[in-house]
Amino acid sequence: MLEVKNLHVKIADEDREILRGLDLVVKPGEVHAIMGPNGSGKSTLSYVLAGKPDYEVTDGEVTLDGADLLAMEADERAARGVFLAFQYPVEIPGVANMTFLKAALNAQRKARGEGEILTPDFMRLVRSEAGKLAINQDMLKRPVNVGFSGGEKKRNEILQMAVLQPKLCILDETDSGLDIDALKIVSEGVNALRSPDRAFVVITHYQRLLDHIRPDFVHVLSKGRIVRSGGPELALELEAKGYADYVGEAA
Ligand code: ADP
Ligand code: MG
Ligand code: MG
Repeated sequence: MLEVKNLHVKIADEDREILRGLDLVVKPGEVHAIMGPNGSGKSTLSYVLAGKPDYEVTDGEVTLDGADLLAMEADERAARGVFLAFQYPVEIPGVANMTFLKAALNAQRKARGEGEILTPDFMRLVRSEAGKLAINQDMLKRPVNVGFSGGEKKRNEILQMAVLQPKLCILDETDSGLDIDALKIVSEGVNALRSPDRAFVVITHYQRLLDHIRPDFVHVLSKGRIVRSGGPELALELEAKGYADYVGEAA
């Protein structure tokens, strides 16, 4: 599904390389955790995959189902099923959460050559998914993320995922700032979305999210490269030992 080969990335206007030859292969149905010290390039990887501007790819390639992902605009990537849950979810004043969700879903359908979803079908879908995530009617009517608590923002992201049904979900530190109840709701939401044709890249600094979302593979990102890969046991080892062996920023 996703193939990242020798990816080199720098910040536009700066000389410093943030990603320095990153390789990653993600197949349908798999959950990959990417762990690593602060500043190792985890968020940069998620932004580059989602198509955020300001990052310059200087070498390497990224394909999604064989198609050149880096050649696509961010909205085309989204239409093809790439979803990024941000570490800091954006607030959109003046746009009701429900309206935003419907627009996002219809944009995706349009890109696939499908017609707009019928309002009653949309309402049924949103109510059912929101119910599973303990998101109430009020949160659906309020402007996107405005005044939402940390936990509400994270649950709202999982709602977006549940409605948009992406092929590749990238979660960047979705666990940060969550109390244990919110963490459970988010993890259950993610687990409910696991399926043989959907993959997850779960980026986290801490092991605790992985107690709830069990990854198939764990990778350690250090100084812009994946320096170790293993199974879930690698996360436990990192939790016990810390990142002392891996610290330092990209050159
Ligand atoms: P992580 O998510 O692993 O903590 P980041 O990808 O956020 O790491 O950052 C990697 C490195 O790149 C850090 O040294 C960070 O300061 C730098 N960096 C990331 N984004 C920017 C940016 N937009 N401008 C300048 N430096 C950046
Ligand atoms: Mg960071
Ligand atoms: Mg980060």
